[in-house]
Amino acid sequence: MLSLLRRRLRLATVTSRWPDVPAPLIDRAQPVFDPARCDLNGACARVCPVGAIVVDTRFALDRARCISCSRCIEVCPTGALAQGLTFAVPERTRSDLVEPRAAVATKGEELASRARHVLGRSLQVRHLDAGSCNGCDWEINATTNAVHDIQRFGIDFVASPRHADVLLVTGTVTRNLEIAARRTYDAMSAPRLVVAVGACAASGSPYPTGYASGEGAASILPVDVFIPGCPPRPEAIIEGLLLAVGRIVRAR
Ligand code: SF4
Ligand code: SF4
Repeated sequence: MLSLLRRRLRLATVTSRWPDVPAPLIDRAQPVFDPARCDLNGACARVCPVGAIVVDTRFALDRARCISCSRCIEVCPTGALAQGLTFAVPERTRSDLVEPRAAVATKGEELASRARHVLGRSLQVRHLDAGSCNGCDWEINATTNAVHDIQRFGIDFVASPRHADVLLVTGTVTRNLEIAARRTYDAMSAPRLVVAVGACAASGSPYPTGYASGEGAASILPVDVFIPGCPPRPEAIIEGLLLAVGRIVRAR
């Protein structure tokens, strides 16, 4: 026991310093787009396996559909698409995830002010797996480990929707789980928020619409925040929850 305590005392702090310092880069992430370099040759759209890119008279990238495969980066001959994004940031509307956007918010300042607010209060989260592959669920689990430590933001997970402020949905919301998703939402007290985690919940991607798979959480529930990624990083999930809390402060 004493040796265990000694070893623990020797350990440095493992908890990430994000959001005060940027999240580390990873090998495969969603592309950074440089419009000045794009010549609309369309090679990226032809290789994208989920139809996230459309190129006609202009370029459009739907970050809600993107699964971070990097194929578009590999074939782009002009360097308009490149690595360099730590993660695609969550947004309040589905259309805000389509790049290029009409207006760009000051995300750093917004996140900092929301984080300051959240640190002063508790947020209870109920997770609902509505047909995911479990990739997103593992990333949600990772938010609670010593590295990401979601509790430092005053956020915690609860076992019942009756105790929750936020419903965190993963998966496309398959046909079999539509009723369960609605009932879970109905069991929550107002004010209640819905956060769609991952490409599946944000857009239905990468699965085609069919007799069993759904088109994403917004087809069933009023989604307040969309978190892109397949799966999203833990930092993106935490940022999405902070964004959701900012919405409670402003509008509800
Ligand atoms: S990184 Fe995203 S946008 Fe690019 S090809 Fe893969 S899925 Fe499509
Ligand atoms: S978004 Fe990707 S990782 Fe998440 S549940 Fe869907 S397929 Fe799995």
